[in-house]
Amino acid sequence: MSLIEFQKKFGTEKACQKHLFRLRWPEGYHCPRCDYNQAYFHRSRHLYQCKACGYQASLTAGTIFHKTRTPLRKWFWMIFLMGRQKSGISMCSLQRMLEIKGYKTSWTMGHKIRKAMADRDASYTLAGLIEMDDSYFGASKPGKRGRGAAGKANVVVGVETREERPGFAKMHQVPTLSAHQIHELAYTSLGEEVVVRTDGWRSYRVLNSDRRTHEPVVVGDGRNAVKVLPWVHTLIANIKGNIRGVYHGVSNKHLDRYLAEFCYRFNRRFWEPQMFDRILVACVGTSTVSYSELRA
Ligand SMILES: [Zn+2]
Repeated sequence: MSLIEFQKKFGTEKACQKHLFRLRWPEGYHCPRCDYNQAYFHRSRHLYQCKACGYQASLTAGTIFHKTRTPLRKWFWMIFLMGRQKSGISMCSLQRMLEIKGYKTSWTMGHKIRKAMADRDASYTLAGLIEMDDSYFGASKPGKRGRGAAGKANVVVGVETREERPGFAKMHQVPTLSAHQIHELAYTSLGEEVVVRTDGWRSYRVLNSDRRTHEPVVVGDGRNAVKVLPWVHTLIANIKGNIRGVYHGVSNKHLDRYLAEFCYRFNRRFWEPQMFDRILVACVGTSTVSYSELRA
C-alpha cells in the first residue's frame, strides 16, 4: 500500500474505528464477558452495552489503544510507518510528521507498539538448525573489556538457518552470560530437537541436553566468526547500525523492545504487504501498558 492509498483508506477516525471493529469482531460484536452477540451502542461514550448481561465494553478496551487520547488515525499512521521502515524510524520524526503533542506521547506510543510486537513473537520458538551468539550493546565504560564489559548490555541472538538462508530470529538481553541465563533463555526461546551452533564460550555447553544438540564450532578470529556463524553476525551488525543511525543510541533499560521491533520486522520480511495489518492485530491482541510501567 502506498502512502496515498493508506491516507485514502484510513483518512478519517470513523474509517479507523470500522477497521478496528472488523479486526476485533470479524463475526460481529460479541460481549467480552458472556459472548452474547447483541449490544446497545452508546454513541456519546463510544461504548457497547451487552443486551444479555449489561457489560459495557469499548472498541479499544483490552488493546494497546485503551484510554488513548491520540486519534486512532495517528496510531494507524505510526504503525504503518514503523512497519514500513526496515531500519526503524525515530519517534522524533514521527512526532513531527504526525503532529503528535509532545515527545513523551510519541515515545509512549512507539513503545506500546513495540510491546505488542514483542508479545506476539514471544509465543514462537526457534526450530531446526540455529546459530547463536552474543554481543554487547551500548556505550562502553572504562573497566572490563570483552564478555561482561562494564556498562554494556549482553544480548544473545539466535537465528534459524534454513538451507543457507535465515529463518526466524530472536534477540534478548541477559543480565550475565552465565550458563544459568543461557539455560533459561533456551527454555523460553528454543523448540525441541533443535541443533544449536555457537562458539566455544563455556556457558553455551548447557545447551546440550536431551531436548537439544549443541554444536560448538571453532571460531578463532573475528573474520572467521563471520564465516562460521554468518547470520547472527549479519543481524547484529544491522541492528547496531540502526540503533546508532536512527535512534542515536538506546538505553539498556528499553533495549529489549527495540530488539523485539527489529526481530518482528525481520521475521516478517517476506510479508511486507501485510505488515500493517499484522502489527495492528498484535496491537489489538495485547493489553496496554502505561508510561510509568514502560519507564519502570
Ligand atoms: Zn454480556
